[in-house]
Amino acid sequence: MQSTRARRLRFVIQKHRASHLHYDFRLEAGGVLKSWAIPKGPSLDPKDRRLAMHVEDHPLEYRRFQGTIAKGNYGAGEVIVWDKGTYALSEGSDPAAEIGKGKIAFVLRGKKMRGEFALVRIKRRSGESGDPWLLIKGHDEYADPAYDIEKDPRNCVSERSVHGDRIA
Ligand code: MN
Repeated sequence: MQSTRARRLRFVIQKHRASHLHYDFRLEAGGVLKSWAIPKGPSLDPKDRRLAMHVEDHPLEYRRFQGTIAKGNYGAGEVIVWDKGTYALSEGSDPAAEIGKGKIAFVLRGKKMRGEFALVRIKRRSGESGDPWLLIKGHDEYADPAYDIEKDPRNCVSERSVHGDRIA
């Protein structure tokens, strides 16, 4: 069996203006995209611990999707490919197994998000539903305590924001 340790796997972050704006963070694992919905989006500041709700797997091909999900459908609203690239595991050799253990540490090579990150499952509070995790940036040369996602609205594959505005 081929080791995935050194292998680069794909990731994508789609900015999704549904009823609530969020960022869909997706890691290739076991032939699918394991997915988390992050209301505030990822951060390069290691002090930020971004809530990431584990959601259903998506097919690999979905990483290229951007466009508008029509009204009346689940997740209706606009989607852009906000960041994409590859990742490598920092620990372990099978990303699906790491996720199954409740912690996956990895290095992103995206256009915006780079360096070490970890996704860690947390306990849900009583009365809450879902499967909450935290996305945390590691301390490395890509860490940026001044990072502000609001200043980074752009699509990474064309010059378009989630509002459809063209940005010079
Ligand atoms: Mn979404």
